Formats: sequence, structure tokens, C-alpha cells
Amino acid sequence: MSSGTLQVLEPATEAVLQEIPRADASDVDRAVEHAAAAFPAWRAVSPSDRAAQLRAISDIVREHRDELAQLEARNAGKPIGDARGEMDMVAQVFAYYSGSPERLLGDTIPVSGGHAFTVREPLGVVGLIVPWNFPLTIAAWKMGPALAAGNTIVLKPAELTPLTALRFAELAREAGLPEGVLNVVAGPGSVCGARLVEHPGVAKIAFTGSTEVGRSIAAGAAQTIKRVTLELGGKSPNIVFADADLAAAAAAAPGAVFGNAGQDCCARSRILVQRAAMDEFMGELEAAVTAIRVGDPLSEDTEMGPLISAGQRETVGSFVDNGAPVAFRGSAPDGPGFWFAPTVLCPVDPGARAAREEIFGPVAVVIPFDSEKEAIRLANDTIYGLSGSIWSGDGGRALRVARALDAGVLSINSNTSVRVATPFGGFKQSGYGRELGPHALDAYTEVKSIFFATGV
Ligand code: NAD
Repeated sequence: MSSGTLQVLEPATEAVLQEIPRADASDVDRAVEHAAAAFPAWRAVSPSDRAAQLRAISDIVREHRDELAQLEARNAGKPIGDARGEMDMVAQVFAYYSGSPERLLGDTIPVSGGHAFTVREPLGVVGLIVPWNFPLTIAAWKMGPALAAGNTIVLKPAELTPLTALRFAELAREAGLPEGVLNVVAGPGSVCGARLVEHPGVAKIAFTGSTEVGRSIAAGAAQTIKRVTLELGGKSPNIVFADADLAAAAAAAPGAVFGNAGQDCCARSRILVQRAAMDEFMGELEAAVTAIRVGDPLSEDTEMGPLISAGQRETVGSFVDNGAPVAFRGSAPDGPGFWFAPTVLCPVDPGARAAREEIFGPVAVVIPFDSEKEAIRLANDTIYGLSGSIWSGDGGRALRVARALDAGVLSINSNTSVRVATPFGGFKQSGYGRELGPHALDAYTEVKSIFFATGV
């Protein structure tokens, strides 16, 4: 039985958006039972029919794009234009993985006495635990390949942002996904997430969230030798060399750290600038930061919304209070809502807390460097290794630096990290495993080797 209700807030107004039943551990057990019961039939669906099912989900998401985007924008406080782009990506993910059921290829391996070949089997029931910053998008990155490979799902959205996951599950049913293949449990992480991790009927946990919770998930999953993929935190560098197109680098830098109000695991929150370019770059950056339009997520021209919660605003504020070296700030509305103005700190010592910890809010630090070697050393001087950017007019240098950085997703003369067709994931304490692209399927299948004796 669900215990009590979850009050889901709208961060731009602090008003209650919806009240929903709060799931508990017994709801998780029931969801796992449903998913386990649905697994034999779902894995047996022919590859072409499973492909058609994923295409139908993609189509229904497209048809309901505006409704889902509105719900996500209100619940997560993100600009409506961004939310629409995210729903487009959700649809693209299902379209992309609809190509997979018929392409889960194996190998034939020459051996003596017969034929050896491999097949890829689904894992069974997979538990998906996702955060509040890109609620439905990150869930889709997991659901697409999981379903394509023939697994059934228990999805646990973040308590703060469960609404699009619940609506998506209804739409997927409407699009023909069989009962029990996708189950959503909306409840606290410490209860529902923890139960999924320990549940012996769950074969794998795919988790996106903080490094701290990721550690406890890896430890918990070890008890039942569950497969685990972890997409965790980041403190990504944006390296700007003096030979770069400085105007382009400075114009793009705010979007790379203040997008989604800085609540982005890929946020380029450490801006490393070659000393010779410092003055020019900072001038351009200030103009770009003060021009950011912060306000109502539902207004078409808004570029940045509020933070997700009062708690998040307090945490982010702790990096700016107490005499932090604020170089300049943008603006933010007054009144209700968890607002925080985009803020640039400079000069910041590379050892300072703001330069080392993931802030997960609209605060960037700027750190100067002199040489290519120093830029690489500073960029790698972190426990994280998710993403990063290199801005330079020298292609050889840009590639040298890209190869030297310990990070999973890099861009040169661009700050984009995420594409449906390319792998996404971290080095070091940013996690392990890859989502998106062809590589994601590895995380939702087991390789089975079969030997067929032909006699001699
Ligand atoms: P979080 O770790 O607090 O929560 C993530 C999810 O885990 C939520 O659904 C939560 O309910 C659940 N959870 C919490 N405690 C749990 C437990 N003990 N057992 C099982 N599940 C539990 O993270 P958050 O605050 O929602 O999200 C912010 C973090 O997510 C940031 O650190 C950010 O960098 C990271 N993130 C990473 C990526 C990536 O792809 N690498 C993407 C987005 C966010």
C-alpha cells in the first residue's frame, strides 16, 4: 500500500502542482512482481514487433510533446523551449532504439568440433533510478535500450519530479506497450530506490544521480551481484586558449554552465582561460552573463528558470556567501520561486571549494593558466571526469588536449555533450557504463556463448 502523499511543487512559484500517492517498499515489491510476470512474453516478442512498439512510443511522445513539455517545465522549473527540446529528444531516443531489436548481432567464432556463436540475452527486470534535473529525458536514455533488448522495467523517478514519468507510462500503454513491461514507483530514494537496489528479483540498476548516492548503490548492489551502471556528478572544464575565437567561446560559455540553471551534470563550471586572453574573455563573458533572461519558465523568451528547491538554493548559495570573489552576476526575479542569479567567481584558487565541488547551480569559476601542460593538469585535477570543452584555433593542440583529458564526453569549439547516437558517460568518480548510442545496449544485455557440436 502507498503510504501518504507526495506534494509535487512548482519551483517558479513554490505552489503545489499536484499531490500524488507516495510509493513505499511494498509498492516496489509489487512493481517488481509485475515486471517479472511480464518479462517472458516481452522477451519473446519478435524483433520486428518490438521495433514497431518502440516506434509507436516515439510517435505518441511526439503527439503529446507540448503537454509533456508543459508538465516538465512547470515541475522542474526549466524554460519551456528547453523542455520542448527535451521531449523531442525523448521521441528520438525511442526512434533510435527501435532500430536495435533487429540489430542485436552476435559473433560466430571458429572452434574445432562444431560451431560456436554468441547471442545477446536480456537481463530480466531492470531498476532505473533517475534524478530531477532532466526527469523524462534521462529516464528515456535508459528505457529505450532496456526495452529494445527485451527487458522489463521498474522506473523510480526523483521525488521532486515524478509527473512526466507517470504520464509517459500512461502514454506508453496507450501506444500498446503490454501491461507490466513498464512500472513507475514514485517515492523516496531512501525507501523505494534502496528497495530496488536490494531486491533479489532485480537484475540490474541503472542509476543517474549524485556520486554520494552512486557509491551506496554500488555497495548495495554488490550483495546480489547486480549489474550496475552509474552516471554521476561532474566538475567539467571549459578550456579557452588564447588562439581560440574568443567571442564565440565567451558567447557560448554561459549556456554551458547556466543552462538548466546550472543543474546539469555536464555543466562546464570550471572555465580555464589562457592568461593572455583573460581580459578580453572576461569582458565578453560579463556582457553575455548579464544578458541572460532569468524568469518564468513558461515565458517563451526565458533562458534560465529557478533552482529546483529551497534546499538546492541554500546549497548553491553557500558557494557564494562569506566573501566569495564575485566578479559579476546576472539578474533574477524577486518574490516566490527558488531564484538564483547567474554568478561568476574570479579569481578562484584551484584548491578552493567552489573550484573542486559540484555546485549544481548557476555559479561558474574562472581560473587562468599559462601553458597547454598546465591547462591539462588543472582540468584533470578533480575526482570527476564527465565532460569538457576545448576552444582553440589550433586543431592539433585541440586534439592533443582532448586525448589527454580524463573525461568521457568532450567537445572542441563547442559545448555540446549529448547526442542520441553517441555514447555518454564518465571516467573516474563520474561513474561507469555508457548510455546512448550503440554502446548502451551492452549495459542491458548479457552475452551468451553457445557451442553446437557437429561431430568429427
Ligand atoms: P540524488 O543522487 O540525490 O538522487 C538521484 C535518484 O536517486 C533519485 O531518484 C533519488 O530518489 C534516488 N535515491 C536517493 N537516495 C537513494 C538511495 N539511498 N538508494 C537508491 N536511490 C536513491 O541526485 P539528484 O539530487 O536527484 O541529482 C543531482 C545529481 O545527479 C548531481 O550530482 C548530478 O551531477 C547528477 N547527474 C548526473 C548525470 C549524468 O548523466 N552523469 C545526469 C544528471 C544528473
